[in-house]
Amino acid sequence: MNQNTSIYFPLTNPEKVEAWGMNHYSLSQVFKPKSEKEIRELFHYANQNKIKICFRGGGCSYGDAATNNLGIVADMKEFNKILSFDDSIGVIHIESGVTIKQIWEFAIEKGYWLPVVSGTMFPTIGGALGMNIHGKNNFGVGPIGEHIIEFNFLTPSGEKIFCSKEKDKELFYSFISSFGSIGCFLDVKLKLKKIYSGKMKVTPVPVKSIEEMVKYFKENYESSDYLVGWVDAFGSGKEIGRGLIHKADNLKKDEDKNFPENCKLENQILPKRFFGLVPKSWMWLFLFPFSNNLGMRFVNFVKYKMGFISVKPYFQGHAEYAFLLDYVPNWKFIYKPGSMIQYQIFLPEENTISGMKEILSLCQKKGIVSYLAVFKRHKKDEFLFSHSVNGYSMAMDFPVTKSNKEKLWNLCYEMDEIILKNNGKFYLAKDSVLRKNIAEKIFGSKAIQTLKSLKAKYDPNSILESDMYRRIIK
Ligand SMILES: Cc1cc2nc3c(=O)[nH]c(=O)nc-3n(C[C@H](O)[C@H](O)[C@H](O)COP(=O)(O)OP(=O)(O)OC[C@H]3O[C@@H](n4cnc5c(N)ncnc54)[C@H](O)[C@@H]3O)c2cc1C
Repeated sequence: MNQNTSIYFPLTNPEKVEAWGMNHYSLSQVFKPKSEKEIRELFHYANQNKIKICFRGGGCSYGDAATNNLGIVADMKEFNKILSFDDSIGVIHIESGVTIKQIWEFAIEKGYWLPVVSGTMFPTIGGALGMNIHGKNNFGVGPIGEHIIEFNFLTPSGEKIFCSKEKDKELFYSFISSFGSIGCFLDVKLKLKKIYSGKMKVTPVPVKSIEEMVKYFKENYESSDYLVGWVDAFGSGKEIGRGLIHKADNLKKDEDKNFPENCKLENQILPKRFFGLVPKSWMWLFLFPFSNNLGMRFVNFVKYKMGFISVKPYFQGHAEYAFLLDYVPNWKFIYKPGSMIQYQIFLPEENTISGMKEILSLCQKKGIVSYLAVFKRHKKDEFLFSHSVNGYSMAMDFPVTKSNKEKLWNLCYEMDEIILKNNGKFYLAKDSVLRKNIAEKIFGSKAIQTLKSLKAKYDPNSILESDMYRRIIK
């Protein structure tokens, strides 16, 4: 036992801490701090004993961003209090372990929604800032960091930094996006956005090729609140990049006669059963038989064809539209006994069509096709480890099995080169495969140097290290 602290980490009974994609785990001592004092003690202990710490929010990063083999994982779940809310301006003050789910469930009945959400509601605000998450409206509003008013940040050197864009722009744009490697977000003030209905108008648009997909996004993004495209990665030849777009728009003030009634939680929460019968938690079992190349080719084909059956706009609740993937809890289990990775590519507008065609064809040629591919539009931002570009991204889910792992990793390395030559980017929240030399080229040696200098100042013993940090930076 260290005499200066009540904390003791013998590492004799480490827990298995798994990456969301199940493709990696660490054996770590898991500690759940409940107060700033406990985080200070944790830092002190790690500094004294040269132990590494990695923060973990909801553990929703697909790869090794929130695991720390043979070190401490500081699980921020107990930092889960909503501290205050100013109804008149929509500013919420929260501890960093508060989840997106907690925020929207708290805010919607008051007529507010988050400015940016991920495709799942389980990330915490600390994890969301660690990665600087984006939503289906990234082209319009940028990443979550742009909507943060201020935060308190505790560093391993013991400094508590109150940070806002106005007070210190450089630190603000560096702490956000630095994947937990400089310090800990303690509490955060976030500006929510006003809504005037519990529903959005959703327009489905089937598209027959990547050219049509890009054309639609280009012509409509300025007049849309949200746009997301699903890509049938099995589509080939002239139909490469075919898929289905969902455009969604908020209703304007006084447009919805059922407001605020339809903002009530019972009208928003995702149903517990499909067709009122099948418990959602069983759904992945129904999908399981399709979890192979043939099955997924079929599922993607049927989804694509069904897209043409009804193209009429409809109304959908905010949570339903935003968190589609949460509809099927544990859907990732369809990849068992293997696991999955997501490989999300970002390409500048001018290289999108050719680059994505090259990527999709290469996957088909290698016989490893993404089972689920999602297309979004983005805009550039100034954050230190920005993943965004003025262009488009495609997030591709791949199954990982014992027999395909080596081939899949080699395919990713080949795709890395395509992204590099097209001035593209990657997103660390989704990454499992990036190598140091590629990360340096993608994020730039200046960003890596800045991170290292900030670490030298605020974390001189480099106690904040995740498995990802060691893989791509150290
Ligand atoms: C189904 C699914 C859909 C997704 N869709 C999207 C999407 O549409 N857009 C998008 O951008 N992302 C998306 N993601 C990725 C997800 O939003 C990010 O990985 C996010 O960072 C997860 O937050 P978390 O709380 O789970 O953080 P974790 O995954 O636990 O941690 C993420 C990083 O933040 C650091 N961290 C955590 N808490 C703190 C803290 N308090 N202080 C400092 N650092 C901290 C960790 O060390 C780690 O480096 C999706 C993930 C899943 C599983």
